[in-house]
Amino acid sequence: MSALPPAVAGTPSWIVLSSIFDSGGIPQSCAVVAESRLHDAIACFLARKVLCSNGTGDDGCPGCNGWTDAATHPDFILSGAPGESPRIDRCRAMIAELSLKPVVSMRRLAVFFGSDGMSQGAANCLLKTLEEPPVYAHILLLLETNTLLPTLRSRCWFYVIPEEALSKSLAIPASDPEWVEWIGKASRGTVEDVASDVRDWCSSACEARNFPLAERLERLRIVFREKRLSLAMSIDAVILAIREEVPCEQIFGSLR
Ligand SMILES: [Zn+2]
Repeated sequence: MSALPPAVAGTPSWIVLSSIFDSGGIPQSCAVVAESRLHDAIACFLARKVLCSNGTGDDGCPGCNGWTDAATHPDFILSGAPGESPRIDRCRAMIAELSLKPVVSMRRLAVFFGSDGMSQGAANCLLKTLEEPPVYAHILLLLETNTLLPTLRSRCWFYVIPEEALSKSLAIPASDPEWVEWIGKASRGTVEDVASDVRDWCSSACEARNFPLAERLERLRIVFREKRLSLAMSIDAVILAIREEVPCEQIFGSLR
């Protein structure tokens, strides 16, 4: 399972969706539209919350302890791979599995990838369960396009993570000449341009699975959003945090 790119967490849809999950009001049927490369991470992130007795996803409750190192869980039912729409027989089998009592958690979750490409017959299998789910059963539909069949759509909480809200991956300067070139370009731009580069670098760090670097970039991005830094201070902060790897607390302690 891949990690959720930090840029997703900043989109309004995701803030609303995660705050609903955090407040304990976990919807029984929920549909999320996003790029398919994010589906795996969204499914895993929400599954941890749904299957946790306390909604935190990592507190050592029986639901949390049910996760294996391979990110499988006895109450987590997946249709297949992201982008692949499940066929009617798979949908039937999943609904049957979902109706069984939870094994270790207080809930069960079935995730249907490629729900926008489901046949009418496959969608019909889900209707009854979407309408009257057993109290412990939860369904997550993942779509790449905003084209869920109306019969399904009217029975789900619906969220769209817009593509344009997500950053593009951008290579982080890796040598002295590349840093000199970036500083020259950044000095002619604005603080917003620097923040945008940091966001795009964060995507590229996530893709490379360099999560410590992605976290440093995300913290920097939050500081840019919350503090009014001058252009020169922003550039200095990037160089210290990313090139010199100075901890953010130390940088912003001294910049104040
Ligand atoms: Zn838990």
